[in-house]
Amino acid sequence: MLSYRHGYHAGNYADVLKHSMLIQALKAMQKKAKPYVYIDTHAGAGAYSLTDEFSQKTGEYLEGVAKLWEHENLPVALADYVEAVNHFNAEYDGELRVYPGSPAFVDVELRPQDRMVLHELHSTDHELLESYFIQDKQVKVLNSDGLQGLIAAVPPLERRGVILIDPSYEIKTDYIDVAETLIKAHKRFATGVFMLWYPVVKREQTEAMLTLLKNSGIKKQLRIEQAINADSDEFGMTAAGLWVINPPWKMDVMAKEALDYLAPLLGHADGYTTVKWEVGE
Ligand code: SAM
Repeated sequence: MLSYRHGYHAGNYADVLKHSMLIQALKAMQKKAKPYVYIDTHAGAGAYSLTDEFSQKTGEYLEGVAKLWEHENLPVALADYVEAVNHFNAEYDGELRVYPGSPAFVDVELRPQDRMVLHELHSTDHELLESYFIQDKQVKVLNSDGLQGLIAAVPPLERRGVILIDPSYEIKTDYIDVAETLIKAHKRFATGVFMLWYPVVKREQTEAMLTLLKNSGIKKQLRIEQAINADSDEFGMTAAGLWVINPPWKMDVMAKEALDYLAPLLGHADGYTTVKWEVGE
């Protein structure tokens, strides 16, 4: 039984990093006219109201997107991100009321020749996602397991693609399952851009997953991480990151610029950021 609902967390600091880098990965794909596929293994509801009970209960977006959405002169990845968020709020007279989830951000970037495959297992969020994309022929919405779905979907016909793996890590075994699936998917589609989102709740648990990837023999693995607090044994997420396999050109530079900007804005005094090639060419 799944209990995680992304509505409680939409627009938090982890989403800022995840979605700003996702947009850059899609923009890199658009440099060629050839079609690409976007696969989201854990898609969520599509988009979120920031005025509903979910967001209001946690207020997480106030410590994330709300802190930067009116800023100017942002580093490029954050400027593109804020522009996209503004697009969804254009009708609200300067108020931040809606936060797009990964499928909605991608929807804006999808060209007529591209397509999107979305997996969402939670029945309510799946229904919301399905109604968001109703009758959109470029988008396939599936109410099934995203990790199994990923293996079935690669290699894609297009041979070009961005894959976001963004689990809720509700089950302890998720960490290892995710790493094993990613390694398997990469064997079938070695040129895909794989973006794995991860939380740091217990540092050892996260590093066990990332070590499997690091030791897998896969080349070009980039860690992009924002710790808003120092690692801790207490309950709660202290950091969030993206582990990117085959990142587009200059994603490391753009990530560093974005995190240097975000660290004093969203992080606390004992926080830190990391952009590191864990495995090179
Ligand atoms: N990618 C979304 C975004 O950035 O807007 C957020 C996704 S949220 C972190 C994770 C989602 O995965 C939840 O909506 C949850 O219901 C769903 N989920 C959990 N286990 C799943 C599975 N095995 N397959 C597909 N979806 C799953």
